[in-house]
Amino acid sequence: MHRLHPARVLVTGGAGFLGSHLCARLLEGGADVLCADNFSTGTRDNVLPLLDHRGFELVRHDICQPLHVEVDEIYNLACPASPVHYQVDPLQTFKTCVHGAQNMLGLARRLKAKVLQASTSEVYGDPDFHPQKESYWGNVNPTGPRSCYDEGKRCAETLCFDYRRMHGIRIKVARIFNTFGPRMNPADGRVVSNFIVQALTGQPLTIYGEGHQTRSFCYVDDLLEGCVRLMATPDEVTGPINLGNPHELQVRELATTILRLTGSRSPLVFKPLPVDDPRRRRPDITLANETLGWRPTASLEAGLVKTIEYFDRLLGTPGYKIPAGVNGHAKQHVA
Ligand code: NAD
Ligand code: UDP
Repeated sequence: MHRLHPARVLVTGGAGFLGSHLCARLLEGGADVLCADNFSTGTRDNVLPLLDHRGFELVRHDICQPLHVEVDEIYNLACPASPVHYQVDPLQTFKTCVHGAQNMLGLARRLKAKVLQASTSEVYGDPDFHPQKESYWGNVNPTGPRSCYDEGKRCAETLCFDYRRMHGIRIKVARIFNTFGPRMNPADGRVVSNFIVQALTGQPLTIYGEGHQTRSFCYVDDLLEGCVRLMATPDEVTGPINLGNPHELQVRELATTILRLTGSRSPLVFKPLPVDDPRRRRPDITLANETLGWRPTASLEAGLVKTIEYFDRLLGTPGYKIPAGVNGHAKQHVA
């Protein structure tokens, strides 16, 4: 479609980890970007370098409230993603997932805009099938401490498809698997940021359970390449589509890899496993590969090296203090 103006793109949650990288990337591609964020887990610092860009606007907004703006595309990323954070206020998490998605879909309906919904591998819960394909409907506890997020994101997917069936909204549902990289919040309790910060500061690495549970970690640039390609697909491509790196490893192995790459002599300590912590997770990315011609290119180690460099610089910044709560297990419900 020929436009008289650059694409105007709304990124909700744009001051968070993924959102801030996405805003930068879209600006580089020539889009005008409106970042809407309530700064609950994201910060202005994440988008500080973008504030001088003439195509960039930042607005403090909670997507549980309607937003009246004029845009062509919406990336709906707003939502805490770390289990520690999304369990702090589960009602707000659920509202963000559901009311937030409904508000963004309503906006898209008025504007005839496209919406990319950031869904998650958590919709598969503790999966009975491995690796996870999009056709698998999942094994999710509807009443546990993770449900606000898992069920919230499942409802958001439902809303996307109902808005499409009822109103013809152009939707793109991305099921994002664990992603890491620079600008993760050092205090948000996710495993990669926890282990790196612990290794760099000489604290013990906190392994939950025995560390045999698996995850598959994708570097942020790869993930966003997949998201941008998905947004650009023809209207009949709706997803859900898995985006993640199929390289699977045990949490224990991640710890020893990070110790090796940082040269840290921190010990490992074992802490209780959080309730409903999925035992294994790996995306089947056949669909993404066929539909988007996409697969991740960064190795785990290459991504970790960049992430470690980032945290090393951050922690070495004069006057910088690590926010409270790095060992996030204390705030999660444990088995
Ligand atoms: P993040 O916590 O760094 O970013 C989320 C952003 O959303 C923050 O800036 C936060 O302030 C903002 N936000 C939260 N609630 C809001 C609300 N009600 N209104 C406006 N802004 C709000 O997390 P992230 O890792 O960047 O995740 C971004 C999105 O991707 C989330 O929707 C998450 O569910 C999804 N996702 C991420 C991963 C991952 O591994 N990073 C995996 C699966 C899905
Ligand atoms: N984990 C851990 N130590 C930590 C943080 C997390 O062992 O300090 C484990 C957690 O129990 C889970 C995995 O690492 O099995 C990934 O956790 P994260 O919170 O990063 O994301 P999840 O995939 O659970 O949403």
